[in-house]
Amino acid sequence: MKKNVRYMKIICIGRNYLAHIKELNHSIPEEPVFFFKPDSALLQKHSPFYYPDFSNEVHYECELVVKINRLGKSIPENFAHNYYSEVAVGLDMTCRDIQRKEIEKSLPWSISKAFDYSAPISNFVTLDNLGKDIQNLDFKLLKNGVVVQETNTSDMIFSVNKLISYLSRFMTLKIGDMIFTGTPCGVGEVKIGDKLEAYLEGNSILKCDIK
Ligand code: MG
Repeated sequence: MKKNVRYMKIICIGRNYLAHIKELNHSIPEEPVFFFKPDSALLQKHSPFYYPDFSNEVHYECELVVKINRLGKSIPENFAHNYYSEVAVGLDMTCRDIQRKEIEKSLPWSISKAFDYSAPISNFVTLDNLGKDIQNLDFKLLKNGVVVQETNTSDMIFSVNKLISYLSRFMTLKIGDMIFTGTPCGVGEVKIGDKLEAYLEGNSILKCDIK
């Protein structure tokens, strides 16, 4: 019997909000910076995140996620809006201690960013239902009931359409691919026992307990 397995890639944008670049002492990119997580990184249905045994400093990064709904290559920026209709909020969980070592050694961020279940994600909602432009969405993250990250997508350095156009110059975007569009400022550590909750447009959309 043929199994209906759908493969997808998760593309993550780094350095897409000015205040976050400053808090990590990074430089402002002239072009989008991106990296990948494998599909084994996905953590869905409000499942708990189990603290990995290979890191001592895991950070949350709350991000708007866009799902690609058409096959596309070399997509012009002014057509990019035809390639998505749904968004979610995701957490780009990052082993900051390992990432620091990877940066020091000029290595890719493979372990720090792409480990199992490093991408907790909410259900997707349609932009039609939200009734708002993708570049005018409020989202925020609460840790143990306290707001730690809060932004509007109008603060992105590179818009979603620009990101899609840029990425599709190098790689074909396929149905089901997801783009984590970068985190605003306020990233920080999680500890076992913490409770994360993300909101999109004022509605609780993702819960993730750290275990
Ligand atoms: Mg990130």
